[in-house]
Amino acid sequence: MHEYSVVRSLLRQVQEIARSNGGGAIEMIRLAVGEFSGVECTLVELAFRDLAPEKIGRQAKLEIQKIPLEAKCENCQQKIIITNYQFCCPRCNSQQVRITAGDELTIIDIELREVGVNA
Ligand SMILES: [Zn+2]
Repeated sequence: MHEYSVVRSLLRQVQEIARSNGGGAIEMIRLAVGEFSGVECTLVELAFRDLAPEKIGRQAKLEIQKIPLEAKCENCQQKIIITNYQFCCPRCNSQQVRITAGDELTIIDIELREVGVNA
C-alpha cells in the first residue's frame, strides 16, 4: 500500500525533528494532507496505527488537517477552489489552471515531551 511508504518516510522525518530538538518522546504529530495529494487520510491513519508504536512509541497521536484543492487561472489570475475536479476557471472558462494548494503532504508541527529517567 502506497500509504505505508508515505507514513514510513513521515516517521523518519519526525524522528529527525525530535532528535534535533533534544530527543523527547513524540506526543502528537499534526499533518496537512491535501485533497489532491494522492493519499487517503483513513489509510494514512491506519498505517500510522500500525507503524508508529514500533518506530516512535505508543503515546504518539496523529492529527490530520485536510487542505482543499486551490488553483489559479493562468489566463485571468482568478483564484479558484476546485470542487469535483472541475479544472476550469469560472470567470473566463479557461482550462489553464495551476494548482497552488492541496497537492501537498506536510508536517505542520510535532509535540515533544521530555524523556523521563527510567530507574
Ligand atoms: Zn480565468
